Amino acid sequence: MTDTLADRWRAARPKAAGVHIDSGACSRQGFAAIDAAAQHARHEAEVGGYVALDAAAPVLDAGRAAVAALTGLAATDVVFTTGANHALGLLLRSWDGDRSAACLPGEYGPNLALMAANGFRVSALPVDGCGRLRVDEAAEALRRDRPGLVHLTALGSHRGLAQPLHALAEVCRDLALPLVVDAAQALGHLDCAVAPAAVYSSSRKWLAGPRGVGVLAVHPDLVGTLRPRFPPSDPDAPMTVLQKLAHGEANAAAQVGFSVAVGEYLAVGGSRVRARLAEVGRLTRTVMAGVTGWRVVEPVDEPTAITTLEPTDGADPHKVRAWLIAERGVVTTACDARRAPNELTTPVLRLSPHVDVTEDDLNLAAAALSDAAAL
Ligand SMILES: *Cc1c(COP(=O)(O)O)cnc(C)c1O
Repeated sequence: MTDTLADRWRAARPKAAGVHIDSGACSRQGFAAIDAAAQHARHEAEVGGYVALDAAAPVLDAGRAAVAALTGLAATDVVFTTGANHALGLLLRSWDGDRSAACLPGEYGPNLALMAANGFRVSALPVDGCGRLRVDEAAEALRRDRPGLVHLTALGSHRGLAQPLHALAEVCRDLALPLVVDAAQALGHLDCAVAPAAVYSSSRKWLAGPRGVGVLAVHPDLVGTLRPRFPPSDPDAPMTVLQKLAHGEANAAAQVGFSVAVGEYLAVGGSRVRARLAEVGRLTRTVMAGVTGWRVVEPVDEPTAITTLEPTDGADPHKVRAWLIAERGVVTTACDARRAPNELTTPVLRLSPHVDVTEDDLNLAAAALSDAAAL
């Protein structure tokens, strides 16, 4: 009976208590990932944490290989981190070239903070009225004024626009500029297999892995130019650049859980999931278009499952979010302007259902939003 993708996804995880339309914040994990992480923790208690880590090498290798398949890089290019921000921090701290970056005006606020903290000058790439990159103009601008790196958040946290990642990757290849991709929302959601100079992501969003894990993949050409500042070089125990980037205490059980989750994702089929997420986005925007007091920001056919709603009658997305959880069991995210300080002017409510959402779920959320108007 479980033959549609939605049914299969739903059957593979605990039943949601209410309506969970918040995968852009954190997806619901599946039984296999939860059980694998718990098994690893048990194994640590039985044989010792470091012995258990050695025993888990094949599953962690498989996790890196799965990430490699999604990014167009090689398994040996991938290291685990504790999240996307951690990955970007590792990369920028180790940057040995010109510390300037070109990125979207809608760049993610915490990324801008990391760039500033690492002494990067930031310039804005040209976009259209909704914040989508204008590729030809960007190519011209990058040719005229070459930054140290081009940074693209392929799908934002504050707006469900699929940025033209493939076209920009081609431009950067032509201009021999390193492209760094924030795929925190894009991995598992859009096709990210462009083999960029570097790409990083989170486990817990669209790949439905555990919290506290991320990945960073770096092309060998860029690896050769990085200078990790930590740990200090030891001539008796030389480490590769990637070993240095991966160095540090980590939750191995969570890395195991993530590896299982991304393996499961590939088994379901990346292109099937991506097509269904595009369908889910269209359905969400169609249902929400009828709710008074809110405006759907994205074009209805945008091929992502992230929909943001801008209040038109003065509703406060943070208050509405809290009310939806407490009174209706509907889980969403309120995005304030700090998420994209150079683009977002008013807070928005973000709906980000995964492939298992039903039309009933969305109708329930829409009805709850209408009722919230009385707040
Ligand atoms: C969530 C998110 C991040 C940060 O990811 P963490 O794993 O929480 O560090 C970075 N960029 C975007 C676009 C995000 O949505």
